[in-house]
Amino acid sequence: SLSTPLERTLLKVIVLGAAGVGKTSLITRATIGADFFTKELHIDGKLVSLQIWDTAGQERFESLGPAFFKGADCCVLVFDVNTGIEDPSKFPFVVIRNKIDLDGGAGREVAEKRAKEWCELIKLGPSGSRGVLHFETSAKEGSNVDDAFLNIAKSALSRE
Ligand code: GDP
Ligand code: MG
Repeated sequence: SLSTPLERTLLKVIVLGAAGVGKTSLITRATIGADFFTKELHIDGKLVSLQIWDTAGQERFESLGPAFFKGADCCVLVFDVNTGIEDPSKFPFVVIRNKIDLDGGAGREVAEKRAKEWCELIKLGPSGSRGVLHFETSAKEGSNVDDAFLNIAKSALSRE
């Protein structure tokens, strides 16, 4: 009925990646608030709120502290297609290949191939048989950012 409130699900999404790959740009592009990085989506009749945690200048997992990871439903690792991949974490995660607006050459194909291989590798680890999704985006132009975050939300929801 009309008076039935939407069920709300709060999901915590943490975003990792080397400095300069475009983490803050992607989050800013995907969200509305400047103070709290939250994004609201409607998925299968549910209202889903993503609470997105950025990292700044903390490239090592050890330096982030336990509070950052506590209660996380999804981990996003961002890398610049023009520079390559950092070491994978042991989290189940979504890979975003950002700055595709800059990449005109063979580097983009190489990045896609490496991302696929990497996702296969990670799939065999602690994240089990759950698929590792990967997307290519441009935070600058907004390409594919909404689609990436919709799938990030779905991937985080699938843990429930
Ligand atoms: P962070 O350190 O990972 O948070 O990276 P930032 O979001 O601060 O971005 C680093 C630089 O890359 C900034 O100068 C951004 O404007 C630029 N940048 C981020 N995303 C893109 C993108 O998709 N395309 C291009 N061309 N530049 C980008
Ligand atoms: Mg940043």
